[in-house]
Formats: sequence, C-alpha cells, structure tokens
Amino acid sequence: MSTQASRGDIAAFDVARIRAGFPILSRQVHGKPLVYFDNANTSQKPIEVIDAVDRFYRETNANVARAVHSLGEAATSAYEGARDKIARFINAPTRDEVIFTSGTTQAMNTVAYSYALPRLQPGDEILVTTMEHHANIVPWQLVAARTGAKVIAAPITQSGELIVEEFIARLNPRVKLAGVTHVSNVLGTINPIRELAKACRARGIPLLVDGSQAAPHLAIDVQALGCDFYALTGHKLYGPTGTGVLWARKELLAEMPPFFGGGEMIRTVSFDGTTFADAPHKFEAGTPNIAGFVGLGAAIDYVNRIGLDTIGAIEGELAAYMSDALKSVPGLRLFGEAKDKAAVFSFLIDGVHAHDLATLLDHEGVAVRSGHHCAHPLMQFYGVPATARASLAFYNTREEIDAFIAAIAKVRKLLA
Ligand code: PMP
Repeated sequence: MSTQASRGDIAAFDVARIRAGFPILSRQVHGKPLVYFDNANTSQKPIEVIDAVDRFYRETNANVARAVHSLGEAATSAYEGARDKIARFINAPTRDEVIFTSGTTQAMNTVAYSYALPRLQPGDEILVTTMEHHANIVPWQLVAARTGAKVIAAPITQSGELIVEEFIARLNPRVKLAGVTHVSNVLGTINPIRELAKACRARGIPLLVDGSQAAPHLAIDVQALGCDFYALTGHKLYGPTGTGVLWARKELLAEMPPFFGGGEMIRTVSFDGTTFADAPHKFEAGTPNIAGFVGLGAAIDYVNRIGLDTIGAIEGELAAYMSDALKSVPGLRLFGEAKDKAAVFSFLIDGVHAHDLATLLDHEGVAVRSGHHCAHPLMQFYGVPATARASLAFYNTREEIDAFIAAIAKVRKLLA
C-alpha cells in the first residue's frame, strides 16, 4: 500500500474490538466462522452505519429540501451534512461539486450523458485502459455509438501495470475524455493518477478517475490528484448500498446539462421552458436515498476515526502476509503483481475452475468472488474466462488468511 501509518497507530489497532463492531463478522456459514474476503465486491457495515440508518427511519424520516416542518429540516440537515463530510473526505474545494448518485455506475453515466454526449463528434475518442471495470467502458460505448466516437484502451503489462507512456501516447487531439481506475478491482494495481492527470491537463483533456476501489483504502485528495471527475461508491466504503458520489470541477458542472429531469433540480418550470438549479441539485432529480446518505456520512465518520493511514498500514501488512501465503500454494497463478498494489488477489489454481473453487471455499466458511469481475477486456488480455478473487479489508486477520489457505488445501485434495 502507498500510505503508511506510524508503528504506534498499528500497535493501538485492536482488531478484536474492531471486529466486534461489525455484527455480520461473528456469524457462521455452513457451520464454520465466516471469513469474508469479498470486500472489493461490497464491504461489511459497522454498527455505527447500521444504527444511523435505523435511527433516521425511527426518529427523523421526512423528505429533504421541500418541507419546513421540524422533521423535514432535520432530514435535510442530516442529508446535506453527509455532503459536507464527503467534500472534506475527498478534499473537494467546495461542497457544491459533490453530487450524490446511486453509485459509481450512475456517476459514470452522468458524465457520459451530461458531459460527453453533447460534445462528442464523429472520430472523437474516449481513452480508457485495459484494466477498467465495465462501468468505465460501457457508458462511453453507449454515447460513442450515438455520436460516431470510439472508445480506445491503453495497454497494461503482464504483471498488471498500466504502461504510462502508451497511455500518454494515445492522448491525441481527438481524445475528448480519459477514464482510469484509481485501483483495479481485479489486480489491485494502484494507478499513478497524478502523473496521468498532469499529462491530460497539459493537453486540455479532462480525466475521470474511478475511485470505487480506492476510497475505502487510500486517502483521497481530488485537488492533489489533479483530476477533473472522481467517482466513488458508498457500499464499498462501509456505507449503505445505493449511495455514490460524483465529484467534478465546478466549471465543468456549470457547462453540463442535466441528464435526469424532475423535481428538486429546477429553478423555474413552465410549458415555455425550464431553468435549472445550480450543481449539485441540477443532477439530483427526485427524492434521493436520504437514509443511505445519512448512513454514508456515518461511514465517513467511522473511517476518519480509525484513519486511512492506519487502514492502509494494516491492510498493507495483511497483503504482505497473504502474498507470501499464496506463493506457498502449489499450482496457483496470481493475476496482478504491480509494485504499488492494494490488498486484492485474483488467482487460479491449476485444474480447478474458479466457480468450483469459490463454491467449495464457501462450504469452509470462506467468501471469495469468482467470475469475470465485470472486466471482460482484462480477462481477454489474460486469456482466461474467470478468476477467483480474495479482497481484504482492515477488519480481516492473519488467522483468517491461515484458514483460507487451509481451505484451499482441502479443496485441492478434494478435486485431485
Ligand atoms: N468500478 C470499479 C473498479 C468497481 O470495482 C465497481 C464495483 N465492482 C464499480 C466501478 C461499480 O460500482 P457500483 O456497482 O457500486 O456502481
């Protein structure tokens, strides 16, 4: 991991106490203690988040921005308070640049339909990389198909690192937008966003960063990164499902027409025409996931309390332990060996299908994901249909890694 906490922070980290704060981690699966290694898919939720959602519905529930009664005001202030927390969390210059979405996918589609679609001309290009999630490919293909533009990809190495010179070489005047994942959901690779943003900026090309896998593990500073759009999803950040964020520079937001229309995003409406509210409300038509964002605010408070430096250091130690442990497994092929890498491990074992592996591991209480991880082009690059993936969070332990390795040994014997 790229962030390092002091030894003191790690020494003070009491994993048993942390785990006690995540109710689901104490349950059993198939009579075995749950080993939850599917954190890149969705993370588990601390009691603070569960309580915040529960409390909202019990005590404060009302719609936002349209009621002057006490509950309406309390709901609005809790919802807008979450926006302040997220703005600080990613170091946005202003809270008005923080748009609430249902997740990264909606954030990407907002950029596709509100930013890219009105600008794209036949022959224009959108540059991504081979390691992108479908959420950072398919929305661009949809708008490219309508406009005659095309989506191109910068290549990666076999070890799963972006070839930066190749990315920069593709930044030609036809490129109207570049999109790169901050951390790969399959390989764990941490991409050099500052360097890419600098190259894009020098050519006047906006850079969108998919922060889905980064925000739960690395401190995010959109100003220091130098990107133009940053997307993240709340459910991987220990928050509720159905929450996400699009951050964008206010100059870009000001030029973007809304993509969804309806209530709460207008200034005036008549049958002769409608004028729109300013960002962020221009992009938030209809009743939002109010309780979800209250929960996301609680998740941000939780992460801040532990500290992303501490989270990074703990996960870094777990990743090193996991990496050594996986090397001891005969016939195991690891995908993604970048120098700068998060605690995500995609692998295959000779002669074992990824789905069989995941199913049998589940019987040992171990939850890993198997499949293409919404990254078909990356699977095509490696020439495999699927991999198994174990992805760690700070609440995982070395004992769980030992149990996972023992479960793999059992599965290999079973299938031998
Ligand atoms: N990008 C990446 C890198 C992801 O890992 C994911 C979730 N797997 C997404 C985008 C999409 O996130 P969501 O489904 O929450 O919109």
